Amino acid sequence: MQSTSTAQLRARQRRLVTHLQALNPQVLRGSLITRYTRCGKPRCACIQGQGHGPKYYLSVSNAGKRPEMVYVPHASVPQVRQELAQLQEFRAILAELCAIRHELLKRRESR
Ligand SMILES: [Zn+2]
Repeated sequence: MQSTSTAQLRARQRRLVTHLQALNPQVLRGSLITRYTRCGKPRCACIQGQGHGPKYYLSVSNAGKRPEMVYVPHASVPQVRQELAQLQEFRAILAELCAIRHELLKRRESR
């Protein structure tokens, strides 16, 4: 980044912000987990097999607390996957914006 001109860095900042604005505001943090459950009925086939399912849950960790689990209906699984992936895109853009600003600050470019 040291070899990039200040004008180029400013242009890159503007492109990154435009990209941010184009992202879907539906964004999620957490991980999608799959569960198979046993119903407990003595003659159900699930006793032998892997259980009923799959059932999907979004697991969201919170500092110092148990992860929060939210049931995700099958029909919503693709959308939830997309919204989880989009968080990585938000994070990558923010990381690059911070890196550019860091570089500009080192060059004593105050604006
Ligand atoms: Zn069962």
